[in-house]
Amino acid sequence: MPDLAYLNGAFLPISEARVSIEDRGFQFGDGVYEVIRTYAGRPFQLQAHLERLRISAASLQLTIPDSIARLTEVVEEGLRRAALPETKIYLQVTRGVAPRDHVFPKATPSTLVMTFRGFTPMAASTQAQGVAVLTMEDLRWARCDIKSVNLLGNVLARQRAVDAGVFEAILVRNGLVTEGSVSNAMAVERGTLCTAPTGPNILAGITRQVVLELARKHGVPVREEAMSLERFRAADEAFLTGTTVEVLPVVRIDNKPVGVGSPGPITRHLSDLFQRAVGR
Ligand code: PMP
Repeated sequence: MPDLAYLNGAFLPISEARVSIEDRGFQFGDGVYEVIRTYAGRPFQLQAHLERLRISAASLQLTIPDSIARLTEVVEEGLRRAALPETKIYLQVTRGVAPRDHVFPKATPSTLVMTFRGFTPMAASTQAQGVAVLTMEDLRWARCDIKSVNLLGNVLARQRAVDAGVFEAILVRNGLVTEGSVSNAMAVERGTLCTAPTGPNILAGITRQVVLELARKHGVPVREEAMSLERFRAADEAFLTGTTVEVLPVVRIDNKPVGVGSPGPITRHLSDLFQRAVGR
């Protein structure tokens, strides 16, 4: 079975799916998206992802062409048709096809795209050993809570990280850590889990929410407050959260070890709790 796409109401192979050069997603980055993965073949936190898509779209006065119930059905049908062991589902809605003009077109239907591809989880050894990160200025716009397809700031940051031989770029705005280019950033200080509060500076990560709930439920104190870069670098432990990275220990920041330079006990505890929550 070739990789599967869904485009405006029809399933077809990805290689055959086409949108116009006048799609506003292509010309303006005028659209929103979600990335969802399966565990044991079931989409993880599907309703939370679709609710975040609804909020992102509403923030841009963008119409999602189908109801959340219908999107749920399409995702389920796509999973059935793709019949993959584990699937990475990509879902994108743009403001449709219209002659190029910054002003919103009138009565133009949105473009809805999904892709269903095999998902290869991150290597267990990477999860166990942790990763290095660098820090850099957050050059993105002022509404990072909207999951917009306009990802140039994230793309440049991630490329800088990979060029430097590290996993992720941690972004810093006005001296405060916001998040990673593809993940949320968390730190542990004297036993307390700290992470930036939701708001315009970060994406409200679904994994972030699951991890904060697990921490609270299991007696790990949580503080949602912006941390200075100095505080973040001096933390006892640090880790990333995200759909693809799950709970990923950070063991080096800007070439200096975090704590003792190996994944800390609270990070490992939360990673174990997360793995149990997803059924491993
Ligand atoms: N922040 C950014 C900028 C991201 O791209 C992602 C990945 N979608 C996250 C955080 C983590 O979000 P989630 O846990 O919902 O995947």
